[in-house]
Formats: sequence, C-alpha cells, structure tokens
Amino acid sequence: GAPVSNVAGIGNGAKNGVLIKGGEVMNTFANVDTLVFDKTGTLTEGKTAVTQLKDYSKNQLGLTIAAAIEKQSDHPLAQAVVKFSADHKIGFDKVEVTDADTIKGRGVKATADGQSVLIGNLRLMNDEEIALTDQQKSDLEAIQSQGSSTVIVAFDGRVQTILGISDVIRQGVKESLATLKSLGIKKTVMLTGDNLQTADAVADQIGIDEVHAELLPEQKVEYVKKYQEQGHKVAFVGDGINDSPSLVTADIGIAMGSGTDVAVETSDVVLMSSGFNELIHAYGLSKKTVMNTK
Ligand code: ADP
Ligand code: MG
Repeated sequence: GAPVSNVAGIGNGAKNGVLIKGGEVMNTFANVDTLVFDKTGTLTEGKTAVTQLKDYSKNQLGLTIAAAIEKQSDHPLAQAVVKFSADHKIGFDKVEVTDADTIKGRGVKATADGQSVLIGNLRLMNDEEIALTDQQKSDLEAIQSQGSSTVIVAFDGRVQTILGISDVIRQGVKESLATLKSLGIKKTVMLTGDNLQTADAVADQIGIDEVHAELLPEQKVEYVKKYQEQGHKVAFVGDGINDSPSLVTADIGIAMGSGTDVAVETSDVVLMSSGFNELIHAYGLSKKTVMNTK
C-alpha cells in the first residue's frame, strides 16, 4: 500500500542528501508544476564579495563609514562590505555608530560620528530625496547590468560611494532548470528583493521563465498565492529567514540546507547540501513514488 512505498521513497531521498518530511509531502510534491526560487543564496551561492568600488568621497570616507555601520548587520551585502574593508585595512573600527535602523526592503539608516547616514538601494535614496548625479546613475546601471548587486552610501546630502557586489550563480542551474521541466515542471520563477536590472541579468544566464524583483517578503507571498489561485501547485525554494512566509504558504516549502534553522523548520523538504541535483532527485523521486502507489 501507499505508506510502505512512500517510506521507501523517503529513505531513498535521505541517502541522496534530501530530507522529506512525511509521505503526504511526496504526493503533493509530485503534483507541483510551478517552481518559485529566491535569488540570493538559492539560485546563487550567497557568497557575496565586493568587486567594484565607485568612490566620490574624500579618503574613502564613504566606505569607512559604510563598513562601520554594516558591521552590525548580517545581510549578505553587509557582510561583503565589511570583509572588503577589513581586507583593505580600512580603519572603520574608530567610527562610532550610535544608532542603526533597518529600513525594510531598502537598507539601513544610521548615525555615525554624529552624522546621519543612508546605506542601501536606489529606493532608499529616492525616499530620502538624495539625488544621484548623471555619473553616479550611469555607474550604478553599469554595475547592475552585469548582474551584480549595488549598495549606495550617502551622507551630507549626497551619494559618497557605490559598491558593486557579486555573487556566484550555483553551478549547473541552467541545466537543472531544464531537467526539472522535462520531469514535469511547467513554470520557473525568480522572486527577489534585489533590483530588477541585477535580477534580469542573472535570469538571462539561467533561463528562468519569470522574474519579479524589488519585493518585500510579504510581496513574495502574494506571488505564491497568485500562482495558487491560478490553479498551480507551487513549490517555493529558499534559504533565508525572510522567506519563511513563502515557504509556509507554498504547497511545498523547500529549504536549501545551508539556510537558517528557521527555514529548515518551516519547510517540507530540506536539501542538505544545497544542490540542484538534490532538488531534481527529490522531484523525480516523488513522481516515481506516487506512480508506485497507484
Ligand atoms: P533580499 O534578501 O532578497 O535582498 P531584503 O529585504 O533583505 O531582500 O533586502 C532588499 C534590498 O534592500 C537589498 O537587495 C538591498 O538593496 C537593500 N538592503 C537591505 N539590507 C541592506 C544592508 N544591510 N545594506 C545594504 N543594502 C541593504
Ligand atoms: Mg534573502
């Protein structure tokens, strides 16, 4: 009967680095036709590094202040800024950060050495009425069109620094998405908080069907619901704490194993070493297991 076959399927999954939480999950997974992915840490490795520095400030003051503030954040972009500054012996430890507030989907607002500082994306700059010069706009676009993310640093009423931060697309993603399609997936989607230009550049490299960028976590959930309302069975694949609402809402929540404990707890399937091979294996296994029980 069904339970025995399902258990066999689950056991087979565990051997291949996939944790599937219960037989019912296998049945639901087999019916999934829409795969929705978070970008950073899911389609990419989440190993961020600063690869470009546009400095419009004196003595790299923009970078120094940014590093001091980002030291308090665990966002992947923040970690890249801090590492780059440490590697380049930027003396950011002397900067006194007295308060720092996260602005959802935008970045950070902080006070450093008594001065108010903004670090984040173009939306944050627009909200705070910081205008970019034509040079700064073209620098920003040049970086983003290559698929790198950007961090803008502003104080004194103007942009002081723009950092380009790259991340590595996971190996074999393009081929894996094609394989998943051959197994029964009809639509692949990328949802990200990152800017549209960067998201599009990454999407072009991996051949994903749809891209939605500049989203807040609750807007990602809205997309998951929208696909479900259209009659699709949706799996959401993600890693961050940010993504828990989407992992829970999707018919199947899939956590990349390198993800946070929260993501692992709130998901139905855990890919233990974050490989796309594991995802293919798990989906293929669900199809076979369900066939065996029919
Ligand atoms: P995601 O994890 O998908 O990037 P977030 O909501 O964490 O989504 O962030 C959305 C955007 O806000 C980021 O892409 C970035 O532009 C900006 N941002 C958030 N936190 C920071 C930070 N600490 N430093 C710089 N930019 C940030
Ligand atoms: Mg994220």
